[in-house]
This record gives sequence, C-alpha cells and structure tokens, in this order.
Amino acid sequence: MRYFDSHIHMLARTTDDYEHMAAAGIVGVVEPAFWLGQPRTQAGSFIDYFDSLIGWESFRASQFGIKHYCTIGLNPKESNNIPLAEAVMKLIPRYCEKDGVVAVGEIGYDDISDSEERFFAEQLQIAKDMNLPALVHTPHRDKKRGTERTIALIREVGIAEELVLIDHLNEVTLPLVLETNCWRGHSVYPHTKMSEERMVALLKQYGMEKMVVNSAADWGKSDPLKVPKTGQAMKAAGFSDAEIEKVLFYNPIEYYAQSGKISVAEVTPVKIDQTQLHEENSVLRGQEPIVE
Ligand SMILES: [Zn+2]
Repeated sequence: MRYFDSHIHMLARTTDDYEHMAAAGIVGVVEPAFWLGQPRTQAGSFIDYFDSLIGWESFRASQFGIKHYCTIGLNPKESNNIPLAEAVMKLIPRYCEKDGVVAVGEIGYDDISDSEERFFAEQLQIAKDMNLPALVHTPHRDKKRGTERTIALIREVGIAEELVLIDHLNEVTLPLVLETNCWRGHSVYPHTKMSEERMVALLKQYGMEKMVVNSAADWGKSDPLKVPKTGQAMKAAGFSDAEIEKVLFYNPIEYYAQSGKISVAEVTPVKIDQTQLHEENSVLRGQEPIVE
C-alpha cells in the first residue's frame, strides 16, 4: 500500500521516523510552514526556516526514500506580531514561486483575532492571485466558530473553493465544509482530536470525495505513522485497497497537483543514495551509506 501524508512537520522529527514511515509505505509528504513552539523575533528567521524546508529537509527526506514537498505561509499564531507579520508577508510570494512549494499555508485562525484575520485574508489573496492551493488550519479552541468564519472569509476573498483544504476537521466541523467545494482535511492524533476509528466512521458516513487524512505530526506529542495506521483501520472496517489508496494517497496528491508542481506519476519511492551531500553536509555520522 502506498501512502502520502498531506501535513507533517518533518523538520521536528528524527531519522528513525523517516525510516519507520518509509517502511510503513509512506512515499511522499507535504510539510507546511508553521510556528516552532517559540515565537520568532525577526523576518530573517523565517527566511532561514523557509530555505530549510525547501533545501535541507527535502534532501533529508530523499536520503530515506521519501519525496518531500512544502507549503509556505505565515502561521496564525505569529500573525499577532504585526510588524513581524508585515515583514514576513513581503517574503511569501517569492517563496511560493519555488519548485516543491505546492500551496500557501498553513494559514487560518488560532485565537480568531483581528490581526489573524487580516493576514489570513491577505494570504488567501496571494493564493488566488498565484492560482495556488491554500492549506487552512482551523483552531483547536472554538473550532466551530473558527470554521464558520473561515468559510465566510474564503467566500469574501473569492478564491475558488476547490483550491482550499480546510484542515483539522472533526464530527462537528466536517458537515460545515461538506456544504462547500473545499477539500476536507483530518489530523489523526494519539488520544485527542481525531482517532483512526472516528476517521473510519466519518468515511463510512460521508464517503471519500475530497477527503484527506494526515498525521500533522510535529515537535509535540504526535505520531508520524497515523496515515498508515488509518489505512489499517480502514482495512479492518472492510474498505478495499483501492479505496484506502484513494483517500490516503491519490486524494491529497490530486489536491496539491492543482499547483502544477506535483503529480501522482512523480510520487514514487526515491532511490536511496546516502553518499549524496547537501551543501557539503550528509545525514550520516560515519555510518556505512545505504545505496540502492
Ligand atoms: Zn501543522
């Protein structure tokens, strides 16, 4: 079975994670730009972070056989530092033009503040102008109101709904998004938010159209194997292999393929060659390189 994790923050994960993910069938990932747990104080920190996503992390994934893409955006949390946010906004269009950048994101509401709304709208406008997908985070608190305002803002900006993926949905917010033409993202976490079993129940109730599942794994308590684990739960619930691949491989790639920078045909396992270097740096620490 082939899997694609549509939302995972690999910069915060280990080489063991990459090895376990590849062994479980994950052949590609999208890493959305987001916050680092501690607020950044200057725009230069964003430049280095965006360059790491496009450069070093993409290389690191390839060293373990996985295709890596990213999204570029100003996350909602750091939108509340207005002078910094204004400086970062000037960087976004230039990065969104680069190869491997398959969407603007992750953007959206966190505390649902006025400044979050301002930079969310401005970035939806960038996605609209550049004809790129927009990956939208929904808040963990007050999720229903956040999702309603998200849909209203998408309509106000006038970006095509099929370019937007509204993520971190649950039983309450998915029905709101089903009323739109937006894609439907679900983040399966250990113990909270969404489990494999609840995800299977949603797929049984609402079908597979535009449905996307991810791990949203990051530096917090999370599990980078939640996509293949959801595949196992779907199998146990009677879904066919073709149905599992539709939801957990084809759907997310079809969504990001609207960028013109990713296709199903190119998401195949990368031949591992650990003799490779990125700017003279290797992932090895004196170990014997694996070369396939
Ligand atoms: Zn995220």
